[in-house]
Amino acid sequence: MAMDYAEIVKEVGSLRAPPNLDDYERTRREWSWDRVRADLGLRDDFVNQAYQCIDRHVYDGRGEKTAMIWEGADGAIERYTFEDMRRQTNRFANVLRKLGVRKADRVFIFADRIPELYFALFGVLKVGAIGAPLFSAFGPEPVAERVKRAEGMMIITTPALLPKVNAIRGDLPSLKHVMVIGHRAAVTAAEGDLDYGALMAEASDEFEIERTGAEDWSIMHFTSGTTGLPKGAAHVHGAVVGHYATGKYALDLHPDDVFWCTADPGWVTGTSYGMFAPWSNGVTQVIYEGGFGATRWYDIIQRHRVTVWYTAPTAIRMLMKGGSRIAKQRDLSSLRYMMSVGEPLAPAGVVWGVEAIGLPFHDNWWQTETGAVMITNFPALPIRPGSMGLAFPGIEAAIIDDEFQEITQPMQEGQLALRPGGPSMFRTYWQDEERYNSRFKGGWYLTGDRAKRDADGYFWFIGRDDDVINTAGHLVGPFEVESALIAHPAVAEAGVIGKPDAMAMEIVKAFVALKDGYEPSEELRRELIGHARQRLGPGVAPREIEFVSSLPKTRSGKIMRRLLKARELGLPEGDTSTLEED
Ligand code: AMP
Repeated sequence: MAMDYAEIVKEVGSLRAPPNLDDYERTRREWSWDRVRADLGLRDDFVNQAYQCIDRHVYDGRGEKTAMIWEGADGAIERYTFEDMRRQTNRFANVLRKLGVRKADRVFIFADRIPELYFALFGVLKVGAIGAPLFSAFGPEPVAERVKRAEGMMIITTPALLPKVNAIRGDLPSLKHVMVIGHRAAVTAAEGDLDYGALMAEASDEFEIERTGAEDWSIMHFTSGTTGLPKGAAHVHGAVVGHYATGKYALDLHPDDVFWCTADPGWVTGTSYGMFAPWSNGVTQVIYEGGFGATRWYDIIQRHRVTVWYTAPTAIRMLMKGGSRIAKQRDLSSLRYMMSVGEPLAPAGVVWGVEAIGLPFHDNWWQTETGAVMITNFPALPIRPGSMGLAFPGIEAAIIDDEFQEITQPMQEGQLALRPGGPSMFRTYWQDEERYNSRFKGGWYLTGDRAKRDADGYFWFIGRDDDVINTAGHLVGPFEVESALIAHPAVAEAGVIGKPDAMAMEIVKAFVALKDGYEPSEELRRELIGHARQRLGPGVAPREIEFVSSLPKTRSGKIMRRLLKARELGLPEGDTSTLEED
């Protein structure tokens, strides 16, 4: 008999606190973003994300509350109150202003999850500049591409990552400063480089925050498309209204919660939910510097009495692989609410949460461009395992056909679309207005995902509508990987696809045709993987390379990745009328 996932989840997933959103239909009917703005105390034109997340709490008498519990990869624990955060971020804002960093300048932060990363990013927001955090596992090439595209004027990094910056700095004409942060350690900055610690020691604790408005730029995250290199999705300070609202009603954050989001700020979840949503709600959050480790993760929940936990399906699958025994040996009874985002969460993952931890994972959907949760399984409603949930109040989501008409029949596949607008939506792709405009058609914002909706309004994910690869919840653009591969002297052409994988959802697989004079060999395969890893970093480089004599192309010369994928999976090849085989 098929397992009734919904029944299993319903029986055990009882709530331990009254949810902030108790009546979905009524909240949706009565929703007003202006009311959220009022709730945040936004009365005049001044909106600054750093002020909302930090200073406001100090002025409202919560300065002594712990904002950040930081746990280092080596086990060190540090705590920072909202007042500590206010001072540190003020100091950094003073450092930046003295260096001449001005409104809308692009400042990159390329660091592991150390406390200074957070101080620096909020300091950037306080001067009104645009913060662009980058994933520390990136190789030099993705860093260079992104800094170039946004004409970044500064990179803030750590001694460990500095060699990657040194490898590319000569190639970045816009770059004025490189700053090096040593967490609780002195750094030896090269001549001309800036030493974070030395500059902070001289800076004042007081700073007058730039009078940013709701539509002023705040943060930029790079996201991959099918063609071209990643684009900088630019967000504005007013997005904090969406972060706050979704923090309160989708993450169900309560004032006394201890929240833990496992995402890195190099990805949008790590800023929207690893910074802005919890801190605009005045909630204490745990930040763990290290990566995945089942035992360590459970220990963190137990040690810090985490109540609300936001993670991703790949991590859940890895926890499942380790079995529920380790979870059961820990005291995880502090947990009240668990969520997942970034990839489809299989019903088995939802149910495993119930079995191992006593709570289901609530799946939700959103993307870099939307800036905040758009679709979610709400705490007050029964979970539909396998579904991403219902549209957030104030958000209109639909399934549309190829003519951009809404499909109203339940369970019909189409493209997932949203009505444009809303505080957290991106406002452009940096210096690529054309591509930005191409995402809006027929009165909809096109998400690039395919999905269906059931009769009760729950959305069910089907897949991407493009060739973008989702590996462990991180999007990888095939073009970026292909470009790195063809930079190798042996490679004539490369086509890159996402190959399904039990753990990471997809892995990056490359098909490579060699130039005349080169022969496929195991040695060359390893060399190409090494070449790609060195340039791109391990999260982006292909895990598999297959040599082929040629790649299927359209008559206009475009590599048909879909065909490569169909062949890889042994699926029907579909319409090949435009195929030009050698
Ligand atoms: P990113 O912009 O990197 O945050 O990636 C966003 C993309 O990840 C979405 O467009 C989806 O393709 C995928 N995604 C995010 N959340 C979910 C989810 N809950 N279920 C399925 N896919 C998801």
